Amino acid sequence: MVDLKGQYKSIKNTVDHSIQEVLNTSAYINGPKVHQFQKNLENYLGVKHVIPCANGTDALQIAMMGLGLNPGDEVITSDFTFAATVEVIALLNLTPVLVDVDPNDFNIDIEAVKKAITPKTKAIIPVHLFGQCANMEALMKIAEAHNLYVIEDNAQGIGADYIYSNGKKQKSGTIGHVASTSFFPSKNLGCYGDGGAIFTNDDDLAHTLRGIVNHGMYKRYHHDVVGVNSRLDSIQAAVLDAKLPHLDAYNKARRSAARKYNKAFANHPKIETPKTGTCCEDYSDSCNCHVFHQYTLKVKGVDRDALVKHLNDNAIPCGVYYPIPLHKQKAYTNSSYQEADFKVTNQLIKEVISLPMHTELDDEQIAFITNKVLEFINE
Ligand SMILES: *Cc1c(COP(=O)(O)O)cnc(C)c1O
Repeated sequence: MVDLKGQYKSIKNTVDHSIQEVLNTSAYINGPKVHQFQKNLENYLGVKHVIPCANGTDALQIAMMGLGLNPGDEVITSDFTFAATVEVIALLNLTPVLVDVDPNDFNIDIEAVKKAITPKTKAIIPVHLFGQCANMEALMKIAEAHNLYVIEDNAQGIGADYIYSNGKKQKSGTIGHVASTSFFPSKNLGCYGDGGAIFTNDDDLAHTLRGIVNHGMYKRYHHDVVGVNSRLDSIQAAVLDAKLPHLDAYNKARRSAARKYNKAFANHPKIETPKTGTCCEDYSDSCNCHVFHQYTLKVKGVDRDALVKHLNDNAIPCGVYYPIPLHKQKAYTNSSYQEADFKVTNQLIKEVISLPMHTELDDEQIAFITNKVLEFINE
């Protein structure tokens, strides 16, 4: 699905040099590289505060701890996402409230969010799934009207622009009250191990979060709140700092691959290619509103699992994100859920298939993959 070796080869000198700098100083924890990467990412995103931490799951958990949510508070999130999102809600003894998604962009459904709000609701977590922002404008409006926090799970969307209805652009992860991201190796900005970060424009919240990631310490050996140990180590920061200047080019390469896939599948009656907003229906290079963490097709009237097998038999990796909706997962079922409220996710799990998507895909590989997909579907 990804070609990390090929990507490393193309940036070997800068990455090796950046790691060597850490080895030379031996400042492995909270070294200058971590601070340098933090500042560079703040500048890139146009956000006041980046708080590095150990992974994207921690980032979400710490963001919620920082907001001071209390056991029993309800947090609304998407039924169609990686389990990490709902896991940390439950782990903090908050009540996850899963809702359906939009069939076009796979993101949290605005009407479903409105319907799910109760007096106990305290926060909404939109997930910018597969690299495209949820409808932040509508979500921020709902949040303001009901006095809720919006926590963006930006693990799949780093570098994407959110485009407001008036044309204004803002980086994903800088719009809600707080956001989390992951630097897992296969993410759009990935390190060579685990890593994550929290973003916010709120000075007080940033201060609180910096203490929580460090055992609740604001002054050495004074533990004011219950915290965690969650650090981005200096070697991972060195990798990320070397890769950050390439992020826009990486996202552009992903978009270019998506454009080629789209062309091969255009107007096929059984294939629905990913939809973007009207801002960039042609996935043009100038539009950054989809960064294609995944390139996900919907297939109609096709045995999707047999298609997966056909591709795997031809040595083409592919993925089904996600095969089971969260509301049906044993750990997260709730007797109050009604199947009629999850029409879209229940359908998507049967239709979605994600094709290889990374920065090193070449025309020959794309032609091979698209031919094998079409060969199966047209047979
Ligand atoms: C990858 C991912 C996470 C978790 O990130 P880790 O760094 O693996 O903990 C959370 N949410 C979403 C949507 C993700 O894709």
